[in-house]
Amino acid sequence: MEHIAIAIDGPAGSGKSTAAREVARKLGITYLDTGAMYRSVALKALKNGIDPRDSASVTALLPDTDLRIRIEDGVQHFILDGEDVTGQIRTPEVSRGASDVGVNPAVRLFLVAMQREIAKGQDVVMDGRDIGTYVLPDAPFKFFLTADSKTRALRRYNELLEKGTDKTFEAVHEELLARDANDSGREFAPLRAADDAVLIDTTDLTAGETVELILNTVQAGKK
Ligand code: C5P
Repeated sequence: MEHIAIAIDGPAGSGKSTAAREVARKLGITYLDTGAMYRSVALKALKNGIDPRDSASVTALLPDTDLRIRIEDGVQHFILDGEDVTGQIRTPEVSRGASDVGVNPAVRLFLVAMQREIAKGQDVVMDGRDIGTYVLPDAPFKFFLTADSKTRALRRYNELLEKGTDKTFEAVHEELLARDANDSGREFAPLRAADDAVLIDTTDLTAGETVELILNTVQAGKK
């Protein structure tokens, strides 16, 4: 039986993870945060003293990389080489590193194979940068979320403030713009809306309104 896949792509801070998680919860299906997978590879590089931009050294780590996803009470945990790294992958250093390892085709092919395998076995909501264009090009439902960069940076800044940060809003905004440029400018599977994706600008939407728009589209399109 074919499984349903809902692809939600967009830049950092567009609200895609929050929306994807909630859409999956409401539909009672699996949510996969593919950004966390790139973050886990970046963390592995950093822990091994490797610059995430050093493609050859990062590629050499992949055969010994054991990445598993465990769902506990509906929350995804990323287990890297036996260690739960769910908390460690949310730092600005790892965000930047994830964008750097994401340029490397070997890393992408390694993670995309896992992502496709997961989508083969169950109904999923997957969020990322290239789900609609590259990972699951035949997904029946594709969304591309955007928002203006200041709004996106403010969302990130507020998340960092909650955890305690000494970064200024301007620094967070600049980092986000640098990551956008890196993600959109890479050659292999860049950040881009699929031609058949529904575009949603979340600048003036609440998380709940975004979820509702996605669910309404999915319900209307179901056969
Ligand atoms: O979504 P998140 O901010 O966690 O993603 C971190 C980084 O991982 C992104 O900036 C991007 O470079 C990379 N990524 C990717 N493809 C995906 C998901 C994330 O290249 N499908």
